[in-house]
Amino acid sequence: MATKEEIKARKTDIGPPHYERFLHPIIKENYGQWQYHEILRPGVMMHVSESGAKLYTVRAASPRLISTDFIRAICRLADKYCDGYLRFTSRNNIEFLLKNEANIDPLIADLKAEGTLVGGTGRSISNIVHTQGWVHCHSSATDASGLVKVVMDELANHFTEMDMPHKLRIAVACCLNMCGAVHCSDIALLGVHRTPPRIDHEKLPNLCEIPSTVASCPNAAVRPTFIDGKKSVEVDEDRCMYCGNCYTVCPAMPIADPLNDGVSIWVGGKVSNARSAPMFTKLAIPYLPNNPPRWPEVTEAVKNIVEVYVKNARSYERMGEWIGRVGWPEFFKLTGIKFTKYHIDDFKYAGTTYRRTTQMRGV
Ligand code: SF4
Ligand code: SF4
Repeated sequence: MATKEEIKARKTDIGPPHYERFLHPIIKENYGQWQYHEILRPGVMMHVSESGAKLYTVRAASPRLISTDFIRAICRLADKYCDGYLRFTSRNNIEFLLKNEANIDPLIADLKAEGTLVGGTGRSISNIVHTQGWVHCHSSATDASGLVKVVMDELANHFTEMDMPHKLRIAVACCLNMCGAVHCSDIALLGVHRTPPRIDHEKLPNLCEIPSTVASCPNAAVRPTFIDGKKSVEVDEDRCMYCGNCYTVCPAMPIADPLNDGVSIWVGGKVSNARSAPMFTKLAIPYLPNNPPRWPEVTEAVKNIVEVYVKNARSYERMGEWIGRVGWPEFFKLTGIKFTKYHIDDFKYAGTTYRRTTQMRGV
């Protein structure tokens, strides 16, 4: 049994640097004692502790992919106005932490002078949480950063103004692996493949660990076989849902298909359990083409859904709550989105989820 001394000497700080090293002094003194916060204006919040201490935050947009020049620029501002303290939110917003209220206006003026938007609090659209896409992921059906840029260009006024019925969270994931929070955001853009993987039987025996590839398929669509006497695999295309898991394991099964890959749009998800239970997103638009660099079809569709939501939802209704109140037929009518056979989940192994889809309830 370990002695007291041995237990004391054990090293437990084996992960990333301990966050306490980076806490603002006011946060350190009031850790876990925060009583309430107030949004003073778009992008600016006041956090009040039980001790009466106040900390101010100014939230600014970032593109997530940033250079050392950009980091130096925001650090200069944090040094000038925030005693060197800032943080990144889970949606990649930059949050400057200020003890001095008088520094808020000059900080915002400097941010604006550098072209950085301030906003994303309360009844607004926050930065879009997103995945890698064409930056470096091999299985993407669309881009992530490119889509986020063009969508936020269209919706920037809803980031800087709190003019929405409630907060609106958007997410982008560039394939069905869904590294982003697309299953639980108000609007989700999800890259979709629409064709099965293509098997290179020549290369496969040298590149593929066949049992791992067979095991990687969630639908048991990949089976081992022999082609011209060599070990290979075959795909039962009826079972394939084009998820790309097999390609992640076996480079001889590429799935990207520029002509057929594209973007689907899902709506109505949320994580919060305020006022109503958390919700999963449901399919609104099954397919829009990849049309870089500005993706006009996608940006137009998102803008339309946002505008209809702003016009029709009640105060403090999230997207999913609004749709729940008016019903899915009304959602399709108001947005002008066509309801098609592709909205019906006819996947032959979907037995367990079939009756739960909104499409079956709402139409
Ligand atoms: S969502 Fe898919 S394509 Fe995008 S980063 Fe994740 S695994 Fe890669
Ligand atoms: S794409 Fe997905 S469903 Fe289709 S064979 Fe590969 S792993 Fe299976």
